[in-house]
Amino acid sequence: MKSWLKKSIVLGAGLSFILTGCGNQAKEAASTEGKLKVVTTFYPMYEFSKQVAGDHAEVVALIPSGAEPHDWEPSAKDMAAIKDADVFVYNGIVEGWVDSALSSAASEQRVVVEASKGISLMEGEEHEHGEESHLDPHVWLDPVLAQQEVRAIQAALEQADPGNKKDYEKNADQYIAKLQELDHAFKEALSNAKHKEFVTQHAAFGYLAKQYGLTQVPISGLSPEQEPSPDEMAEVVEFAKEHQVRTIFFETLVDPKVAQVVADEIGAETAVLNPLEGLTAEDIRNNLDYIGIMTHNLEALKAALNK
Ligand SMILES: [Zn+2]
Repeated sequence: MKSWLKKSIVLGAGLSFILTGCGNQAKEAASTEGKLKVVTTFYPMYEFSKQVAGDHAEVVALIPSGAEPHDWEPSAKDMAAIKDADVFVYNGIVEGWVDSALSSAASEQRVVVEASKGISLMEGEEHEHGEESHLDPHVWLDPVLAQQEVRAIQAALEQADPGNKKDYEKNADQYIAKLQELDHAFKEALSNAKHKEFVTQHAAFGYLAKQYGLTQVPISGLSPEQEPSPDEMAEVVEFAKEHQVRTIFFETLVDPKVAQVVADEIGAETAVLNPLEGLTAEDIRNNLDYIGIMTHNLEALKAALNK
């Protein structure tokens, strides 16, 4: 059954004469009008929200694919979308602009969900000497913590649209089953890895490392634009030599220059470890989603840690 038809039946007899009276256009309008407007920030928030919402919502991501979310700011058009949203989903910390955006685009009916809320965040790797310590926002890269984010999004959708609670619950359960499978695959593949240390471009994989007993050594800090000092670079090179690191990971959305310098210095290979901060055009062409990219990340880690 078409979703607009379901919706018009749910709306009941009182409205049905309007729908039948106005023909197809009214039916199409009813289809978007009946749907929840869910505005999300960057890719994992979009993907988790879409998985839970199913057919019941129009889900949009503010931060376009190919953009790095750490240094993004909303435009006037984005602010209008935030104001108009029934549900607004963000991770927390990555999106430093959210508090002021939500207060200037004030809305009474909007349900706001900070998906990482309730997860105890780790302090960032101490790379930024002399700066106050930062909390690490990259919880979506841990398949276990990602499940908590999915549940937080589910609760927000249920609050905004209680009529479809059962569907949100079912969709969330199904997606969480996939995340559990992903978690098992990581556990199985990494528990007997020959090496436990890996070098990344920025400190995105701290939660994943902790979950699977690995050690992440980031070249940059919590945000990719924090360029390392020569001393910090030297430390990473030293660590990599000491632990026989043979692969230096770089990212899809960030210039690989510093990662390449480290790799050249120790004669290591480079490979991609994707922090899922946005999809590239190539990811989209290859139909890759969160689970697909995480599966590639697992293969890349497995290969690097067994060299
Ligand atoms: Zn990041």
